[in-house]
Amino acid sequence: MEDTVLVVNCGSSSLKLALFDNQHRKLVSALAERLGQSDAFAHIDGQEGTIPLDAGAGHDQALDTLVTAFRDVGLMTTAPSAIGHRVVHGGETFHEAVLIDGDVLKAIESCAGLAPLHNPVNLSGIRATLAQFPDVPQTAVFDTAFHQTLPRRAFLYALPEAWYRDWGIRRYGFHGTSHAFMASEAARLLGKTPATTSVISAHLGNGCSITAIRDGISVDTSMGLTPLEGLVMGTRSGDVDPGLFDFLRSKGIAADEVHRVLNQESGLLGLSGQTNDMRSLCELADHGHEPSQTAIDVFCFRLARYVGAMMASLSQLDALVFTGGIGENSPRIREETIRHLKLTGFELSRDLNIHHGQFSDGHIESPDSRFPVLVIPTNEELVIAREAARLAGSDIQA
Ligand code: ADP
Repeated sequence: MEDTVLVVNCGSSSLKLALFDNQHRKLVSALAERLGQSDAFAHIDGQEGTIPLDAGAGHDQALDTLVTAFRDVGLMTTAPSAIGHRVVHGGETFHEAVLIDGDVLKAIESCAGLAPLHNPVNLSGIRATLAQFPDVPQTAVFDTAFHQTLPRRAFLYALPEAWYRDWGIRRYGFHGTSHAFMASEAARLLGKTPATTSVISAHLGNGCSITAIRDGISVDTSMGLTPLEGLVMGTRSGDVDPGLFDFLRSKGIAADEVHRVLNQESGLLGLSGQTNDMRSLCELADHGHEPSQTAIDVFCFRLARYVGAMMASLSQLDALVFTGGIGENSPRIREETIRHLKLTGFELSRDLNIHHGQFSDGHIESPDSRFPVLVIPTNEELVIAREAARLAGSDIQA
């Protein structure tokens, strides 16, 4: 049996697994959902039906069940040679992916205060995987690590300095694995090296963020202390006036309720009153549903403002890059965003924007555009698999 790498991504109530072969080809992926609830279940891509899990099953049982299912269908006859974990918050401790040992586990735990919804579940996934595969080298790949190069002027909030010193309140940034992949893929498509390539990378999925990357290094990004800041997202508000908390308190709404609404009931869902799903919003808008068109307008305008803001960190721009479910699949969102950016010299080709999938080089700009505009599918799992293979020193191509 050839070497394989297992990638583990734990959300608060979900577990995603992906298994890669030694050529970086994905062999299979699987998902367990509704963990901790009475109707937890798992599903292996490409197989019919779902696998029921015990009521209240946690990440450990989901992992056990899925690994057994992989073995049953002959996909994991031996243990993987490396395992990579997505970890949301690495604070200021982790600037790159690391092999997991006792000290690393403690350090991830100590970052949990910065990401109370994410790091504890990431840790439970790591612990479950360590119990299942105690002899396999395991690597943590952090969403925040790529942004540890932000200069102070970009990561500091204009708050009392002691809040940063004592509590670590600063901008950390997220989606780093995806933005790093965009930087290297853009360089490849442009025939350049990552170290000489500067891009603005817009990752637009359920969560959305945008990053300025100068000569391969992250120098500004839209998400902050938490993944709530910045762009309009599926259910997250992105930027709001912090005075909102005091105003709503005067209306009798407690801070934890404001927090919940900003995270779960705002963004595209809040504005449209219908859905957080961009594809559905586009359909609703086409049928004359005005709040859905408004949600799209606010989304695109905020994004365009941030493209402009990111230019303040760059002295040259090799490409603006779109990725994520929305960025990769929605010509309309790309077009409506770029329309706001005429003054900066961005111009799209109507045809390439709609049909870019038929061309391999990802370019969608018109010949008159001052800068290239690229569509690049993100692949965070592949980056995690590569990092895990590299740090484990396995035979898999790094
Ligand atoms: P996640 O952040 O959960 O990984 P994705 O990157 O898969 O999310 O992005 C999901 C978003 O992409 C949803 O809002 C979905 O509607 C949107 N999307 C996918 N395909 C299209 C499309 N053809 N047009 C517009 N939006 C799309």
